[in-house]
Amino acid sequence: MSQLVLRNVSRTFGDFVAVDGLNLSLREGELVSLLGPSGCGKTTTLRMIAGFISPSAGTIELDGKVISSPQSSLPPEKRGMSMIFQSYAIWPNMTVEQNVAFGLKLQKVPAAEAKQRVDKILDVVKLKALRDRYPAELSGGQQQRVALARAIVVNPAVLLLDEPLSNLDANLREEMRFEIRRLHDEFQMTMVYVTHDQAEAMVTSDRIAVMNKGRIEQLDAPFELYSRPKTRFVAGFIGRTNFLTGARREDAVDFGGFRLPARALAADGQLPAEVQVSIRPQAVQLLRDRPAERDERYCVPASVQRRSYLGESWDYHISLAPALEPIRVTARPGDVFEVGQTIYAEFDTSQITLVS
Ligand code: ATP
Repeated sequence: MSQLVLRNVSRTFGDFVAVDGLNLSLREGELVSLLGPSGCGKTTTLRMIAGFISPSAGTIELDGKVISSPQSSLPPEKRGMSMIFQSYAIWPNMTVEQNVAFGLKLQKVPAAEAKQRVDKILDVVKLKALRDRYPAELSGGQQQRVALARAIVVNPAVLLLDEPLSNLDANLREEMRFEIRRLHDEFQMTMVYVTHDQAEAMVTSDRIAVMNKGRIEQLDAPFELYSRPKTRFVAGFIGRTNFLTGARREDAVDFGGFRLPARALAADGQLPAEVQVSIRPQAVQLLRDRPAERDERYCVPASVQRRSYLGESWDYHISLAPALEPIRVTARPGDVFEVGQTIYAEFDTSQITLVS
């Protein structure tokens, strides 16, 4: 059953439409990220779910009950949700243990049970040894763990996270991504996670809603989003890619210097007159010699324009035809080609997607 449902939710500020007819359903225990560039409406959506602001149109339901609509809004403290901010927002005058126990005190949980729950969560977030310290005596990562523990200990119906890792340095951010996913798996909480960092969304989420200009462009699991982006915006936002535009010519698509068979791009061969494709840098294999003809292989002569050695891989810029912009190809460290060398680019068409 869907636990949290947003139906046609919009929010305007004056004439400006910050969130535009958004639909989103979360299953119980699911972690969904709202991912998108600055200003696309992620935080406004989260604030509507939390109840800090009301929608201008549409409804938000929790467990089948409307909690937000333009007419009425359940106050944030009655929603049974916890929220975590990038600024941690833990109380400086309380110890780690007091910070974590505070919400249980408010809920009037009996002391013995509260102690047991605080002990368990401090153990899970690895803060047991630091329980008597004050926030000023903790690192940024430890403070964010306190914020996580405090939010989780009260068993929220939904946990909301607004860019929770953006104040941490790169190494710690990477570690905390796994930590958040681990906590999700341990407590099976429904979570909405706002971020503009695609790697963070990929590591933590069951599904990612890619937002652009107040709308969801695509909502899918990380694997589908990367391998089957539906729009140019999504393909460009999730990972690196190359875009090419071609014209349909009977049973082939002409990209202005080389052709690919239409049925390699669409199983039924049905394509519009103008075809736009996203080709991931890993979708092309570079070869010294033309391979023996095989039906499922599509091979085009190319020349190396530029190359950068990155240790784990090569980043090649290759030209497929004089009139075309070079495309970027990621190759294995052992695939060494010289600038100016003529090579062959073999396309894995299962990794080429049509985008609109
Ligand atoms: P960021 O990643 O930068 O936080 P975001 O995707 O979370 O961006 P929002 O904070 O939701 O974006 O803002 C969406 C748009 O709505 C922005 O253009 C913002 O300026 C505008 N906006 C948000 N809150 C208000 C407000 N209270 N009054 C007027 N405009 C607002």
